[in-house]
Formats: sequence, structure tokens, C-alpha cells
Amino acid sequence: MIVRNGLAALPGRQDFVRASLRVAGERIADIVLASDDPSGDSLAPEAGEEVVDASGLLVLPGAIDPHVHFDEPGFTQREDFLHGTMEAAKGGVTTVIDMPCTSLPPVTDLAALRNKLAAISSKAVVDYALYGGVSGRGVEASLGGGRRRAAPGAAPGAAPGAMAELAAAGVVGFKCYFISGMDTFTAVTHDDFGRILAEGERLGRPVLLHAEDLDYVTAASARLAAARGSAAPEWSDYVESRPEAAELVACASALALARGRESSLHVVHVGTAAAAELLHRGGASCETCSHYLAFSSEDFAEKGAALKTAPVVKGRGEREALWRLLADGAIDFVTSDHAPSPESEKNTGNVLTAYGGIPGTGTLFPYLLSEGLFAGRLSLSRFLDAISGAAARRYGLWARKGSLALGKDADLVLVDPSATWRVEGSKLLSKGKITPFEGMSLKGGVVATYVRGRRVFDAGVFGGDSVTHNRISDGPGIVAEPGSGKFLAWGYR
Ligand SMILES: [Zn+2]
Repeated sequence: MIVRNGLAALPGRQDFVRASLRVAGERIADIVLASDDPSGDSLAPEAGEEVVDASGLLVLPGAIDPHVHFDEPGFTQREDFLHGTMEAAKGGVTTVIDMPCTSLPPVTDLAALRNKLAAISSKAVVDYALYGGVSGRGVEASLGGGRRRAAPGAAPGAAPGAMAELAAAGVVGFKCYFISGMDTFTAVTHDDFGRILAEGERLGRPVLLHAEDLDYVTAASARLAAARGSAAPEWSDYVESRPEAAELVACASALALARGRESSLHVVHVGTAAAAELLHRGGASCETCSHYLAFSSEDFAEKGAALKTAPVVKGRGEREALWRLLADGAIDFVTSDHAPSPESEKNTGNVLTAYGGIPGTGTLFPYLLSEGLFAGRLSLSRFLDAISGAAARRYGLWARKGSLALGKDADLVLVDPSATWRVEGSKLLSKGKITPFEGMSLKGGVVATYVRGRRVFDAGVFGGDSVTHNRISDGPGIVAEPGSGKFLAWGYR
């Protein structure tokens, strides 16, 4: 296939450059700049080779969303791998990394990983990697080693822990929580966390932390409940129970516990600018999410439960500060924390029981393209790193993912930069339809998404013939078979 005459986002360039790409099999086989080929014929199609005319379109590397909850197996009333990856593809995401904590059983050992792979491998339409998890109740089994009773005949302390087994099976990191709302995946103590980081470092995998301070949130929630008595909780109760300070305290604790292993620490979904600065100065990595860049706690008045996430969005001042830190590189990349739920769990009528999570993998790339790159908040190189490159490097996928370069997988997003569209929850391909981005106008439309050279999403602008089939009844524009997405292990090459 030849993608001809598009404006390509090539690594190391300050701006898009007119170029043609040849895709051979699953990989980028040639990149020819128009400036080096005035006649335009150095990439002549071979007999039968498909040519995609990308004139007027941007050609970008597929986005990587390294923080999704697709909930399969277990909580598939909320999301599953088919709907989650369809939504990802529609939004220009070609690789997702799924969290271990919201499927059943949670991915805390090798048997659970195999069980999950068996459940999802026939479903995905984009590529996927997985995290392992360390739940508070299973820390010793996760760590293995001296504290674990060895099998009869084995040397004392020789039993491999579940983290080691999961690392060998290809997970790209380990997730744990300082505070958790899940009975099936509980928080770790500070003592646990230092040891988990040490094991993560030994295994060469980052340890991902949900960083809100348990003591702070528990005490603040109790104080606010006592103050309101029998009155119904309001959004301010939720916001004030998990403020900026709860994130800052947790991030400071994590750094204190790291003791020289800061480079193994990654804090997920940071919504507090000072926490991100602290982590960056301390040598850890962090991500923020599109909702922390787009919304603030003042928006609950209009959006209500559609905006409820954990951590909660912060005050208005944080948004522009987070954008600046992202532009500077102090925040490494942006994720969706995609975690939808059905209306019955979301709109409970009670601030405190409404599900804390939103769909986001399909709006992540379009939002950042429109409000980051096109709005001038991010340079092209920072945009590319934030949406793809930095996550590929952090999670052991850089050899084949994360940029448009020779020999890498042909994960491509074609974008019409002149298109403007409005987010409509009812049109999401996710199982979740309730989004705080509802009604938001964004510039730049994804017209096609390719995973390893295979067209997965097609908005139809190339004409009817290019939409080969549409076999998924609720997936207009998805033109790939479920199961065509591939499992990516750490070090994928
Ligand atoms: Zn999450």
C-alpha cells in the first residue's frame, strides 16, 4: 500500500512535511519526502498495490492509550474488548494498554493473565498490551522470595513471585493503589509499596500508582458526612474529600518510599499540577488525562455524574497549569483512563454512589489534537510524544510503535485538518455513552485508522468501495475483524 502525498508527522521535524509512505506487510517500508521527489514518481505502485490519496490529509502515528479499563472478563456490562477497541480505533488509537484491576479475576498472577488473554484475544480490533497488578491482599504472593513458603524441596526463598512470572509473560508494568474502592483489588500499604518498587526495578518494569492519600480521603469524607448530617451529598462534598492535597501527599509519600528507585515509579492520572511537578523533579514519570485538561470542578454544576472520575477533576486553575507542564515535558504523556459504566450505575441520583469513571479512549486523540496541537498549546514534537512516543518508550514498545519510522509497524491515523465535529455520546462505539465531552466542538476529523497496515476504521471519505464490510452491527466504520488486534509483550519487536 502507498499512502500518497499526505502531510506526515515525522519524528524530529518542527512541522508536518509532504511525503508518501509505502507499507509492506505490516510495516513502514519507505518514506519519500515530496521535496526529494518533485516528480512524485519514486514510489510507483506495483501491480495491484493499493494507493491511498492522502492529499490534504495529515498522516500521524497511531495514538497509544496506555490507561484503559476494558473490564473483560468480569464487568462486561461496563465495557468489553470489542467495544473498547472499536472506540479506540475510531478515535485514532492503535494500541491500548489495559489495567489489571477491573477484570475478574484481577490480573495478579499468571493464571489470571492467561485467563484474560483467552477471553479477549478474539475480540480486539487494535493492538493491546497488559499490566499486571499487585493487590493489597496478595502482596507476599506477588513478591515471592524469602517471605513466601517455598515448595517442598526448593531452596528457601527461591519461589518466584507472581510479579516475576507476569513479567516473564510480557506485562509492561505493575499497577497498585494507595486508595481503592474495589473489594476485588485492594490498596497496598506504604511498607508494601517500597518493596513492590524494588521488585519492579529488579524485573525492569515500571510500577504504576494510583496516588491519593488513604488517610486524607478517609478522614475528609467522614468529616464532610458528619457536617451534612441527613442532607443529600453534593458535588462539593466529593470534590472536597479528594482535593489537590490528597494527591500531593500521596506523591510525596511515593517518592519518599522509592529511595533511589524513582525511575521505576509512574503515577497515573495526575490532576494536580504541583503533584506532577514534584514527581518530575523527583525523577518519576507521570501522566495526566484528557478530562483534567478539559474540565474543572466548577463544571459539575452543568455535567453532574457524567464528569465523575477518581481522582476528581480539580479547580479551574489546575487546567492551564497542567497544559503548561505537558508542554514542558514535566508531564510525560496523556491517557484516557477509559472506564465507562451503564446508565444505571452512572446516574444513580446520588453523588457518592454514581460510578466514578468515564469513556475516553475515543476522545483522547481528537481532543489533544484539537485543543493541544491545533490550539497552539503543544508543539508538534510534544504532541507526538504525549500521544504516542513517550508511552511507547516507557512500556517497552518503542522498537515497533510510537512514531512514523522505517521498519516500525504501519500504525497510521489519517486526519482531515479542516473538519470540525461535535462529540455525541450516542455515537460512541464504546458500551458507555455518557461522556463529559458531550457537545464539545473539535477541530480535525479522523478519516481512517490503520493498525499494522490494515485499515481498522474508515469514516468513508475514500468512497464506498474502500469500506470493505461492516460486519459489526453497532460499529459503523469499523472494517476489521474482531481478533485482528495483537497482544504486545514488553520488548515487542
Ligand atoms: Zn484507571
